[in-house]
Amino acid sequence: MVEPAVTSFPARRTAIVTGGASPRGIGRVTAGRLAGAGWDVAVVDIDGAGAEEVASDLARRHGVRALGVGVDLARPEEIEPAVARVEAELSQVVGLANIAGVASPVPFFELDLAEWDRVFAINMRGLFVLTQRVARTMVSHGVGRIVSVSSVSAQRGGGTYSRVSYSAAKAAVLGFTRALAREIGGQGVTVNAVSPGPIDTDIMGGTLSDERKGELVRDLPVGRVGTPADVAATIAFLLGEDAGFITGVTYNVDGGLHIF
Ligand code: NAD
Repeated sequence: MVEPAVTSFPARRTAIVTGGASPRGIGRVTAGRLAGAGWDVAVVDIDGAGAEEVASDLARRHGVRALGVGVDLARPEEIEPAVARVEAELSQVVGLANIAGVASPVPFFELDLAEWDRVFAINMRGLFVLTQRVARTMVSHGVGRIVSVSSVSAQRGGGTYSRVSYSAAKAAVLGFTRALAREIGGQGVTVNAVSPGPIDTDIMGGTLSDERKGELVRDLPVGRVGTPADVAATIAFLLGEDAGFITGVTYNVDGGLHIF
């Protein structure tokens, strides 16, 4: 049997991080953690000005190359030029962290097609288009790491804030991850998912009050809600060179909310 060669990471490599502009979000902390570990970073977000600001801060603080690019992931035509720019201006793309997402607390009988399509366009379709584009490059180099953020809502059927459309889109991310891991694993690219429980960001209808945190904590064996750094640490691990034998996996970063 001929085993595929293990391609090591190039000395300089880039991670594309979507959703990195949000001031208190998981993406920004992940981008910072990766830059701190020596990655060049492309911050991709619908908030282009915010993405540029984060990128220049990372370049200044960590001495890496960083680029902020405004992309609405719901508009597939914006994705190709953005990735082409990242590839032209930064080092070889080895990592992709699909972190951008939107919540949706709309109850089932009030859910219309516009809301359903909005949630899927950002949380799943944009993720697919971007991943397909970036994975082509990774496969051509024989090395890559893809990590996509799902949610405990996919596994438990909501229960924290968002409802059916979000749970369905985030569950789709898990199926996508597993099937893609199987398909391109032999070409040097790993594909994994991270499934956070309640994290202290502003996505659940605004900044969490102490009262709301108290309600969420009741279900959490670790006795606290998560921080963006909790999730960033797992994403950074899965993007790392050492994680090359892990693929098709979902890491729950949820304080024990979904133990099975
Ligand atoms: P956040 O709202 O702080 O960050 C989301 C980011 O996505 C923002 O920077 C936003 O500008 C960007 N974004 C939104 N729509 C976009 C679009 N159309 N194109 C490009 N970028 C877009 O939220 P967060 O809590 O940091 O969430 C990050 C990810 O984690 C999301 O996928 C979310 O669903 C997931 N998640 C969060 C929690 C939680 O409790 N915070 C739990 C489970 C999963």
